Amino acid sequence: MIFGIFKEELEMRFLIIGGDAAGMSAASRARRNDPSLDITVLERTADVSYSACGMPYNIADPSNPMDALVVRRAEVFREKQGINLLTGHEARTIDPAARRVSGVTEGGQPFTLAYDRLLIATGARALTLDVPGADAPGVMALKSLRDGRAMKAWIETREVRHALILGIGYIGLEMAEAFRARGVAVTMIKPRPGFLPWLEEELADVVQQEVEANQVALRLGPVLHRIEPGGRLTAVFDTMTADADIILPAIGVTPNSEIAAAAGIALGPGRAIAVDRQMRTSAEAVYAAGDCADAYHMVTGERAWVPLALRANRAGWAAADHVCGQPVELPGITGTAVFKVFGLQVARTGLNVEEARRAGFDPVKAVVTSRSRAHAQAGSSPVYVQMVGDGISGRLLGAQMVGREGVAHRINAAATALFARMTVENFSQCDLAYAPPFSPVWDPLLTAANQLKKLL
Ligand SMILES: Cc1cc2nc3c(=O)[nH]c(=O)nc-3n(C[C@H](O)[C@H](O)[C@H](O)COP(=O)(O)OP(=O)(O)OC[C@H]3O[C@@H](n4cnc5c(N)ncnc54)[C@H](O)[C@@H]3O)c2cc1C
Repeated sequence: MIFGIFKEELEMRFLIIGGDAAGMSAASRARRNDPSLDITVLERTADVSYSACGMPYNIADPSNPMDALVVRRAEVFREKQGINLLTGHEARTIDPAARRVSGVTEGGQPFTLAYDRLLIATGARALTLDVPGADAPGVMALKSLRDGRAMKAWIETREVRHALILGIGYIGLEMAEAFRARGVAVTMIKPRPGFLPWLEEELADVVQQEVEANQVALRLGPVLHRIEPGGRLTAVFDTMTADADIILPAIGVTPNSEIAAAAGIALGPGRAIAVDRQMRTSAEAVYAAGDCADAYHMVTGERAWVPLALRANRAGWAAADHVCGQPVELPGITGTAVFKVFGLQVARTGLNVEEARRAGFDPVKAVVTSRSRAHAQAGSSPVYVQMVGDGISGRLLGAQMVGREGVAHRINAAATALFARMTVENFSQCDLAYAPPFSPVWDPLLTAANQLKKLL
């Protein structure tokens, strides 16, 4: 019997669909866990294991080739790690009862592979515009490395003087900076009012001023009707038209969960694949990880879909560990995120007031303006903080920060407090570091917590 289990483990076939953050993290981890595991990865493009997050900065820099973003090349996975990595292989159907995946290669060859354990790590895709002309040459989303190469080539082989960015999210803002770095005029347009509606108004105003100070034109309200192709593209809105040499739709992403749904696998929020704390889906022996899957939110306790890189890598590891028979219990996420907008750092963790209300809390907020360093230090600049707590339990629910320095890593203290389910009172007693070049005596987060305590 013991021999029987051992033999089965030796021969186990671990099949992974998707060869980027979640998929290749899982493949590498599984190989480290078990040198004898039969690991196959299906990736529909030619690219694996790259940093999509670096693309806006790479596009800004003509001296840096896009392939510098590749973290580990396909040959390394194949030759050094013994992973059967099949690029140009698209999975089309999953048969959980027969434990088989079928698909087609780039050359049109059909294939079918059997598995003992399957990981779906198909990520997310950029939402497309639903208007005539949305597929005109020069309308370019930025999601995959292939997209990044195409966009960089477009900028470098044409006279691109004006970029139109549709949507104002973090990718749109990072790309506004990238276009400006390349001397391209930028207009950002979104149909709804509110520059960054998820961010506290006072903080959002600071970001908006920074964007406008860097000569990015903002239009909030126009609704896109169509895009007219031509030498230059013309975007026709209900109240205006705009000519551009490139149009970047940056209106969000959606999980690649269709093949899972077609196989009868349950979906969760945002149509992401529903997984438990072991990354198991509703189908026997099928796991999901990364942007295609959901996670438990540690503040609300509910399922949430937050497509970001760290949790994709971590979920890939977790799935691999569980496949290899190790105990796994992922506690969840707190939705921590940070991005750069020209000279500003913008960060958040946990819930904003509206999200807290929807989750059934009684949110109370404090908004403070503090400093990045002691006030007499050269280079000290304002740090804006919004902190949210629960009026009933006193629990810390979230924080947002904006500033020129000392924001990106400071938010991690608040993220850790959320992880530990601290109250605002507990957090206000944390012994945070101080020296004049790095912080006021009272760290901006402690100042916010002290203010919030008075209001709770
Ligand atoms: C411009 C940009 C900037 C970003 N910046 C940040 C950042 O600063 N911080 C952060 O945390 N996150 C950032 N992200 C998000 C981050 O890149 C993703 O969260 C992360 O890549 C998710 O990894 P994943 O493996 O789940 O999905 P993906 O990276 O999307 O990989 C999924 C892979 O599966 C393949 N695939 C899909 N369907 C199939 C199929 N049927 N058959 C075979 N293969 C398939 C795809 O080709 C793809 O290679 C950014 C994303 C972009 C686009």
